[in-house]
Amino acid sequence: MNVKKRTPPIKLLQTEALLHRLNPLEHPKRPLIDQDLKKRKAGYNGEKTVDYHLSFLTDKKYMMLNDLRLPLAPDYFQIDSLLVTPYYALPIEIKNIAGILTIDPEFNQLSKLSTGTETGYPDPITQANRQKLFLQRWFYNNKLPCPPIEFLVAFSNPAIILKMAHGHKRIPPYDKMIHAQNIVREISKMNTKYTREVIDLKKVKRLLLNQHQPAYSSILPTYRLKESDLIKGVQCQKCSQIMIRKIGTWLCPGCYHLSKTAHLQAVEDYFLLIKPTITNRELRKFLHLPSAKTAAEILKSLNVKKTGSTRGVVYTKIFH
Ligand SMILES: [Zn+2]
Repeated sequence: MNVKKRTPPIKLLQTEALLHRLNPLEHPKRPLIDQDLKKRKAGYNGEKTVDYHLSFLTDKKYMMLNDLRLPLAPDYFQIDSLLVTPYYALPIEIKNIAGILTIDPEFNQLSKLSTGTETGYPDPITQANRQKLFLQRWFYNNKLPCPPIEFLVAFSNPAIILKMAHGHKRIPPYDKMIHAQNIVREISKMNTKYTREVIDLKKVKRLLLNQHQPAYSSILPTYRLKESDLIKGVQCQKCSQIMIRKIGTWLCPGCYHLSKTAHLQAVEDYFLLIKPTITNRELRKFLHLPSAKTAAEILKSLNVKKTGSTRGVVYTKIFH
């Protein structure tokens, strides 16, 4: 039972929005952003590969939650996939790396060899272990009995080769680093190990979903960009030109494409690239709308949270 399905991460959506709003077309930052988009897409696809393998766990004792970000003072902790059963909890860390991966337990490091180049990464076991400790604290802070917590590091790329550094055997905890296609087999092993019911699935589900906080941070500072580097207005979905509003419809002066909903993507871009809140005035400015009445109609049609009184109404986009 998947109670929190995976959706494209905000960072990925922000990168896509940035690429079609970045001005000019030949902006010097574009190649870097393009490259980051590829990486973020590959990461997301890797996560979906793991979701596919986990989709074979259809028994109702399995509760899946994807992409969780939970508060734990003074910060948050993030879990790529969390499997909760009445008997144990299993956070899964998903890695999308290609090449030959060698783990060195002595130095707590992971090195990747790909097309003749060696790159270092932090030991994913240390990282996964830390998540296990965070999760233990989360159960404790929520006054729940702490269940046994296992962890797995799943490599989503089926073409990788996992190796132990010379002179080291694949002993625990390094047996927790696995190819994603072996995930169900590992879970079956855990099922035989834990048989005592300790988790109230309903209660844990409610608490996890209530406490989940999506990560929103502006993408512009990442690339040292400013609002003035962005193209404003409603873009034509066919040719990217800025559309004009004509009696309730958007018209593209370039290709004459007509649309009643083209502003929706523009508003979404605003939330992704500028900030998750908008006022009537800000919407008019970003969409080049002359009338406050039209802006109000558009805002009314959006699935956003409205706060404040008549003069200072603010609309907030809720990301999941
Ligand atoms: Zn057009």
